[in-house]
Amino acid sequence: MDFEPVIGLEVHAQLKTQTKIFCGCSTRFGAEPNTQTCPVCLGMPGVLPVLNRTVVDFTLRMALATGCTIAPESRFARKNYFYPDLPKGYQISQYELPIAENGRIDIEVEGRPRRVRIRRIHMEEDAGKLSHDPHRPVSRVDLNRTGVPLIEIVSEPDIGSPAEAGAYLRKLRAIVRYLGICDGNLEEGSFRCDANVSIRPEGSSGLGTRSELKNLNSFRFVEKAIEYEINRQKEVLLEGGAIVQETRLWDAARSQTFSMRGKEEAHDYRYFPDPDLLPLVIDSDWVERVQQSLPELPDARRTRFVEQFGLPAYDAGVLTSDRELADYFELCVAEFPQPKPVSNWIMGPLLGLLNAQGIAIDQSPVAASALADLLKLADSGAISAKIAKTVFEEMAASGKTAAAIVAEKGLSQINDSDEIEAVVHVVLESNPKEVEAFRNGKTKLMGFFVGEVMKATRGQANPKAVNQLLQKSLDK
Ligand SMILES: [Zn+2]
Repeated sequence: MDFEPVIGLEVHAQLKTQTKIFCGCSTRFGAEPNTQTCPVCLGMPGVLPVLNRTVVDFTLRMALATGCTIAPESRFARKNYFYPDLPKGYQISQYELPIAENGRIDIEVEGRPRRVRIRRIHMEEDAGKLSHDPHRPVSRVDLNRTGVPLIEIVSEPDIGSPAEAGAYLRKLRAIVRYLGICDGNLEEGSFRCDANVSIRPEGSSGLGTRSELKNLNSFRFVEKAIEYEINRQKEVLLEGGAIVQETRLWDAARSQTFSMRGKEEAHDYRYFPDPDLLPLVIDSDWVERVQQSLPELPDARRTRFVEQFGLPAYDAGVLTSDRELADYFELCVAEFPQPKPVSNWIMGPLLGLLNAQGIAIDQSPVAASALADLLKLADSGAISAKIAKTVFEEMAASGKTAAAIVAEKGLSQINDSDEIEAVVHVVLESNPKEVEAFRNGKTKLMGFFVGEVMKATRGQANPKAVNQLLQKSLDK
């Protein structure tokens, strides 16, 4: 029997507000433990939470960007459970009446488009952070994170493969970053993903029992964990067993999931409306204001890149996957208006460099205008395309301009035909056998002669002139 996977994702995105969701404490990452707390976020008796307006603004941005319907009135509830990182004994979260529902995100995997519906987006507060001493039976708690604002984005189980899960997450991350509401950092935990995975006989419409995967702190792990889980469930079913609803953790070192606990049902949390917080009322003016403030989003920008710059859809997709990268491209094209060569340089040498150094585009050692200057230099014929690559590497290493490096190292292209002809002459003189073979019809040797001339001129000869002069001499 063949099975098909059914996957839904729950993503927690930490909102980039200055202060927490219900108090004025700072949300800065990396502060000394327990220095960013107050009676409200420590859960002292008698305090009252006050909702942070920016949290609502940011949530509305996300809701509108994903086509959700905004609830005119939503509520905060208390999710009750006991854990040492939760001083109040309950987490404030939206439950029955979330702020937004029924949105969508469009993705594409290997040319196949897929619409993933968003079931709901709601606001909630984060819990604290426990760390366990590996050598002694001691655990420590840092409550700086209690009350940091999160949105949870819950998809419908519309995702059909690990690759689609990855594409959905990348798209979601691109959108929160375009909106400027979350930095999307999986490693630091400001963008977290849980996956609900089940399988069913192919073609059937029912849903199998699902397991919830946690601890997926990289895009790669999300895809690998889902892949593993699909295969595990298949094996269980084919051996006549039954899937148990449970929470499983991803063990990156062993590349497998393991059972953490049986899954709680919602009634285990005894949700009820938080009596300290009024219903949240959002009028149409507020929605309109946020709608007007939305930036151009990845899908729209990708379409524009194809139409305005004539780029292939693939290039446009890569360049607009990140807002800063797309900005970089546009800055560069403004100064050097040849979109495809600019795209090639960004997707090739520039992204290669950034990946190798593990840095983001906004930390690029070569600024957009500096890259444009280099491309202008190559385009004018002052340096060859090959030398341009060398100059680029030098720019990245030293921070100098292209012009300065070319002048300093004497890398200007040799365009003088007498000079090139002299080298051509030497190359042909020293390779009489190849010349003979060429003249007897082995024209493929042209590449060899060009290579020799380029080698002799340290890559500086104008390739077009080299070809012409070689052709002329060999035809004699
Ligand atoms: Zn506080």
